[in-house]
Amino acid sequence: MAAVSTHVWPPIAPSVGSGPPPRLADYEAARAGFRWEDARRELAGLPGHHGLNIADEALDRHVREGRGHRRAILAVGRHGETSGVTYAQLAAHTSRFANVLRGLGVAPGERVFSLMGRQPALFIAALGTLKATSVFCPLFSAFGPEPVRDRLVLGNGRVLVTTPALYRRKVEPVRDQLPELEHVLLVGGDPGSAHSVPGGIDLAEAMDAAGEEFAIPPTDPDTPALLHFTSGTTGRPKGAVHAHEAVVVHRATAQWVLDLGADDVFWCTADPGWVTGMSYGVIAPLTLGATVVTDARDYDALRWYSLLQDQGVTVWYTAPTALRMLMRAGEELPRRYDLSALRHIASVGEPLNPEVVVWGRDVLGLPVHDNWWQTETGAIMVANYRCAEVRPGSMGRPVPGIETAVLERGEDGRAQVGPDGHVRILTEPGLVGELALRRGWPSMFRGYLHDEQRYAASFADGWYLTGDLVRVDGQGYHWFVGRADDVIKSAGHLVGPFEVETALMEHPAVAEAGVIGKPDPVAGEVVKAFVTVRDGFTADEALREELLAFARRRLGAVAPKEVDFDQHLPHTRSGKVMRRLLRARELGLEEGDTSTLEPPA
Ligand code: ATP
Ligand code: MG
Repeated sequence: MAAVSTHVWPPIAPSVGSGPPPRLADYEAARAGFRWEDARRELAGLPGHHGLNIADEALDRHVREGRGHRRAILAVGRHGETSGVTYAQLAAHTSRFANVLRGLGVAPGERVFSLMGRQPALFIAALGTLKATSVFCPLFSAFGPEPVRDRLVLGNGRVLVTTPALYRRKVEPVRDQLPELEHVLLVGGDPGSAHSVPGGIDLAEAMDAAGEEFAIPPTDPDTPALLHFTSGTTGRPKGAVHAHEAVVVHRATAQWVLDLGADDVFWCTADPGWVTGMSYGVIAPLTLGATVVTDARDYDALRWYSLLQDQGVTVWYTAPTALRMLMRAGEELPRRYDLSALRHIASVGEPLNPEVVVWGRDVLGLPVHDNWWQTETGAIMVANYRCAEVRPGSMGRPVPGIETAVLERGEDGRAQVGPDGHVRILTEPGLVGELALRRGWPSMFRGYLHDEQRYAASFADGWYLTGDLVRVDGQGYHWFVGRADDVIKSAGHLVGPFEVETALMEHPAVAEAGVIGKPDPVAGEVVKAFVTVRDGFTADEALREELLAFARRRLGAVAPKEVDFDQHLPHTRSGKVMRRLLRARELGLEEGDTSTLEPPA
């Protein structure tokens, strides 16, 4: 039996936005009658349509339908200055970019890499590549030279779009180990300086010389479009390949879950080097004609609040670690800002502690909507909706068209196919098992790069196995228990680290926590917690004793036996606590792949 929180959170009432109030009945109805086939046909059947091409959906369609003058990007520069790009401008720029690729002989299906921060040029490279039906692979601009090299080598990168500064710092040191890299398209920098880079091309010059007309080739919905590397939370990052028809799910989920429309100003804090930053930071909001905010600056609580206020952000998509950072900055700070334009906040990437949801409601006056998905799923799969009751601590319910199941696990902790060739579905509410998705939704990944075996092993009996453990309650709400790799077995209890972290976070001194299992001769494993304390509290022996007692009261037998203080918990660059690293360090083991580790501030 899994440890189940004894703390009952009050449900949050459905919220009502600026448009007609969404209704739960709409969700239920949508789920009941929904088929991806119809959604595909709806897009593919539009006049002037070229099969199903992401860039066509995101840009050219708006121009054809008379919305080209609307603002697609609102870019905030290094010094807080803003500039805008319209849909028509972006459509033209991306056509030029596609022509540049054609001029270089980049073939359809060939991979184009980018190494760039959040800026309009990244939108141009991404959507221009998709127009040319080549495959776009964004790398995280904060990667060091080795992770950049590894990914370029793994993906046989021949074309890279980057800035001169990033090139110097991240590519030049490993340039001699990249024999396949032929063209380096440089964004910004002095004209003429591109010649000092082997294979260097000044992108601005090349785009000026290229034509503004580009006819998107008819694109089969199954054409590969994107290559995304996973976060590397549990091991070496894997490259997941997605097809153009993923846009069907991007668009639908942006509507249902993010509640986006053409009048929204949307800000997604995820770096475009991760799947969230591309699917929802670039593609999804554009398919709905919204305005996307990009900000080139580093983040802190002050900047975030002022950006939300100054740009009139209406929908904000971020991650639990960011929200925890805002909580840490105190309750007084947000009162200095006018956040009245903001309708709701969505969160993804890690378990969202119920504390944060309650803080959002009480301090910001806003609903925080947790949702769940993975690089592999390509788009949001399970979510809390603006039209439905939010159960703090729950990831919500499957989006229309997505069927989930909780599967019984075998000895190794993962779902297994029985002798009859089938997996066993746990139908009784509350039982913990591996979350599985019925295969075949349009944004489902089509392969792991160069790893067919692993891809095949991700499916069983018609289900995609997620590697995450959940329980589902009687109303279909999904509750995250942990990653199959992270779950702790202590004295006959199955302990999800999230459960323990959440209980600790209910203590006012705790800003963040990371929980691991430590081998123990008696219990099998004991629970150990690493805790970051909030500003204004002292990490001392008295607090340690207090936290241990506090956790014991909340969690009983599965409470941590040890608490250590750590003001710099290791995070992936996509913002997840890296428990495997905490564990390796605690046990003196090899640290494994740390390419996605965020360096301590
Ligand atoms: P890797 O697969 O390389 O170990 P990763 O799984 O962290 O890294 P991503 O695809 O970026 O790579 O993240 C997906 C995972 O993030 C999910 O499988 C889940 O464990 C976690 N996750 C995402 N959203 C949520 C959420 N709302 N609640 C809990 N966990 C979440
Ligand atoms: Mg994963």
